[in-house]
Amino acid sequence: MSDRKSLQTALIHTDYQAPEGFGAFPTPIHHASTVLFKNVAAMRSRNWQDKSAYTYGLHGTPTTFTLEARLAEIEGGTHCLLAPSGLAAISMVDLGLLKSGDDVLLPDNVYNPNRELGRWLSQDFGITSRFYDPLIGAGIAELIQPNTRLVWTEAPGSVSMEVPDIPAICQAVRARRATGQDIHVALDNTWSAGIAFRAFDHGVDIVMQALTKYQSGGSDVLMGAVTTRDAALIHRIEMAHMRLGYGVGADDAYLVLRGLPSMKLRFDAHDAAARKIAAWLKNRPEVERVLHPAFEDCPGHEIWKRDFTGAGGLFSIVFNERYAEARTDAFVDALKLFKIGFSWGGANSLCVPYRIQGMRRGWKGSGQLVRLNIGLEDPEDLIADIEQALNVLNR
Ligand SMILES: *Cc1c(COP(=O)(O)O)cnc(C)c1O
Repeated sequence: MSDRKSLQTALIHTDYQAPEGFGAFPTPIHHASTVLFKNVAAMRSRNWQDKSAYTYGLHGTPTTFTLEARLAEIEGGTHCLLAPSGLAAISMVDLGLLKSGDDVLLPDNVYNPNRELGRWLSQDFGITSRFYDPLIGAGIAELIQPNTRLVWTEAPGSVSMEVPDIPAICQAVRARRATGQDIHVALDNTWSAGIAFRAFDHGVDIVMQALTKYQSGGSDVLMGAVTTRDAALIHRIEMAHMRLGYGVGADDAYLVLRGLPSMKLRFDAHDAAARKIAAWLKNRPEVERVLHPAFEDCPGHEIWKRDFTGAGGLFSIVFNERYAEARTDAFVDALKLFKIGFSWGGANSLCVPYRIQGMRRGWKGSGQLVRLNIGLEDPEDLIADIEQALNVLNR
């Protein structure tokens, strides 16, 4: 074959090699489905689970491996796997660790799509899922059956905000594991971003994050991650990742990498603003309870004080029950800076009303619950916005 290529081939092949030694802070964005091998021997010797080499875009590129390594370090773990959304990360844990005949325990205030996944596993896959009181603490021991393989936790539940006693739950699970039972604790640690709660230090086995929230910070990407300190455990979850084909896009991975350097500064700013606004709301006669873990109204407040170092921007309020849903809906509609929408962790403040009485077994009181995500706007402007919307509420 001559060295001269036809135009069509030249559009595809090149001999040009960019020089090595280009230095810059950002991680390069490697767009790749196919990964190239130098020769057949190199191809045959590669193992897709070995992160010191590359096999196929779905199993990782320099961009995704870098993000995984950084997330593991931030969370205090050793192994991390990315998934295309927070919910995909949750399902990856379930499908990696559970099989027909197994049992999983979920808190009754769990992120609702995780509840729905649990119901689906129960209905169609022969895996029982049972829901427990999020404030159960050491009492979880009584619910653990010989076939219970996984205990999900969430700290706090992201609508009703109860803070669970994670160390007590982990201790009960560890005691069962000491008898030879295959059982682990998974934590949805999205609320604290891995900043305000050091999950592994408190005994958690598997940490899940919705990177969609604080890690990205831009309200422009969906991604999730699962981190452990246990190679055998991550191997099982990695098998689910591979079998399900849970790859993530290079540009999305880049967006999360881009958000990481400012994550703690943003988190602390969300936290300070949220506490200021929550304290203002606490003094308003329209508000019955402020469900913010740093406030005494919040179930599990003492546990938050013991185990957490911060709180971020998400909390809920319960209105006095003299305000019917139509009034509190008018309050939400009257907000101007707070937009109506799910999620949190971005620069924009958000607000969602929830029909909490139908979501939580045994919920006490009939006041309407509204969840606020405090963004990065000036908190005084946000308070002024809430104040004018409270005037509409009272009209
Ligand atoms: C957002 C969120 C998820 C899911 O993340 P997605 O990327 O939206 O799928 C899971 N758990 C909690 C607590 C969340 O807030």
